[in-house]
Amino acid sequence: MHQIQKVAVVGAGTMGSGIAHVFARSGLQVTLCDVEQRFLDRALASIRTNLGREAAKGKLPESEIEPTLSRIRTTVDMESLAGAEIAVEAAPERLDLKSEVFRALDRILPATAILATNTSSISITKMAALTRRPAQVIGMHFFNPVPIMALVEIVRGMATSDATFTAVRDLSLQLGKTPVEVNDAPGFVSNRVLMPLINEAAFAVMEGVATPEAIDQVFKLGMAHPMGPLTLADFIGIDVCVDILRVLQDGFGDPKYRPCPLLIRMVDAGWLGRKSARGFFAYEK
Ligand code: NAD
Repeated sequence: MHQIQKVAVVGAGTMGSGIAHVFARSGLQVTLCDVEQRFLDRALASIRTNLGREAAKGKLPESEIEPTLSRIRTTVDMESLAGAEIAVEAAPERLDLKSEVFRALDRILPATAILATNTSSISITKMAALTRRPAQVIGMHFFNPVPIMALVEIVRGMATSDATFTAVRDLSLQLGKTPVEVNDAPGFVSNRVLMPLINEAAFAVMEGVATPEAIDQVFKLGMAHPMGPLTLADFIGIDVCVDILRVLQDGFGDPKYRPCPLLIRMVDAGWLGRKSARGFFAYEK
């Protein structure tokens, strides 16, 4: 079985930089692409810091930091992704933008290459239909922070072939991750199950059933969750949670997914969670 060696990662933000990190750490050659060099420089700086943290914890030999970084090439020119065997797209969660990126990747990458997307909520089947290679399109859904979280939710679109699935499963194992196979449906499994939990917790706050602290305590102590649903919502971003709930509501046509009015008011107020230092809880700026 051929092992993938050359990877393109498109989008060098929170997720793309983490994805480039884990590929390079596993010995693959990575080309990281973004629209401006400053985003690539920021990504490389954060990868360097995170590799340093891994070395400090004894998870990576200090001597591996520079060789790992040297496996990551950066570019603002998508044309230079032409040699990649797989691309993982981690551009912002907007269908218009992702569609443009996917069409470009389909034109630029070899006909045999796999096109994977890290989308949290957009249909893999829909993305696949934009390309001339729907059998080679798949969801490769990593979790934040990518170097730490063990899961890759591998999402099969309607046309995804077994060969594509197997290649991406093997690649995830090579990264030291645990792949879990799911089929394409709104929110896949992770967000379909998580977002209604967060939403219901927000309703409980809104109705005065309990404080955010109390709700999170129930889940931490009673269900052994490492963090409560509202701390997690702050970490994900309240705006992102609302967007995903709307995707579920539209995708299933079911009002049970309607975002809690409290979440919508928080977004209006700019209380987006950790990134704005205020969400269900307050954070230091
Ligand atoms: P982000 O905003 O941190 O990063 C996106 C990057 O893409 C930015 O650096 C931006 O400059 C770049 N970009 C924009 N247009 C581009 C283009 N045309 N070509 C190349 N790069 C382009 O976003 P993120 O949080 O890393 O999320 C990326 C994807 O991962 C989204 O689809 C999101 O739903 C998904 N995701 C996010 C998380 C999370 O916790 N943040 C978790 C799982 C999945």
